[in-house]
Amino acid sequence: MPRSVEDAPTAVLAAAKDMLAKGLVEGTAGNLSARQADGTVCVTPSSVDYGDMVLEDLVVVDLDGTVVSGERPPSSELPLHLAVYRAFDDVGSVIHSHPVHATMFAVARLPIPSCIDEFTVYVGGDVRVTEYAMSGGKHVGTNAVAALEGRGAALIANHGLVAVGPTPSKALHITALVERSAFIIWGARLLGEIHHLPEKVDRQFAGVYEFMRQN
Ligand code: 13P
Ligand code: ZN
Repeated sequence: MPRSVEDAPTAVLAAAKDMLAKGLVEGTAGNLSARQADGTVCVTPSSVDYGDMVLEDLVVVDLDGTVVSGERPPSSELPLHLAVYRAFDDVGSVIHSHPVHATMFAVARLPIPSCIDEFTVYVGGDVRVTEYAMSGGKHVGTNAVAALEGRGAALIANHGLVAVGPTPSKALHITALVERSAFIIWGARLLGEIHHLPEKVDRQFAGVYEFMRQN
């Protein structure tokens, strides 16, 4: 059975408000979703400010993107969310955001190296950069699936970040951790050479990530 989120609308809305409060997006940018027990996906609507968003604004779609319920158009990045759910049964939630420092790496098309213990534990290793694809198109999804293999997040070239997890709050935690780490790596490179974790440690923590991804 693919992983699903209990009371997905409440969890998606809470994470959406938290994402705005944490400064990971401005206004209406980014989008969030969670898989429900019946296989449908609850997703944020397109272009509604998270500050004003209420439960009634959320949209439910099936895995083909057909709207099952909701009055508003679903997020323009719905193909990204659906591609991830189709590819990874263990993903319960997908969050796309535009955090400043992570997006700096996405524009430079540089991966965020895993140089901090907790980063590997929660993200699984270096955050890769996708091939470029235009926002809202289906290739954003196919490219993201390739970059997300074995990872909790991927940088979307010239655009932003996508993070996955068992629940919206855990996917948001990964989003915030990747953004914080991007800031740290950017600053550390200004200070001098950066150092990677010893390979053995990195491998061990990557194993812990596999557990975290499921729990
Ligand atoms: P939506 O408001 O349609 O979800 O789009 C925001 C976004 O980040 C597009 O990439
Ligand atoms: Zn975006």
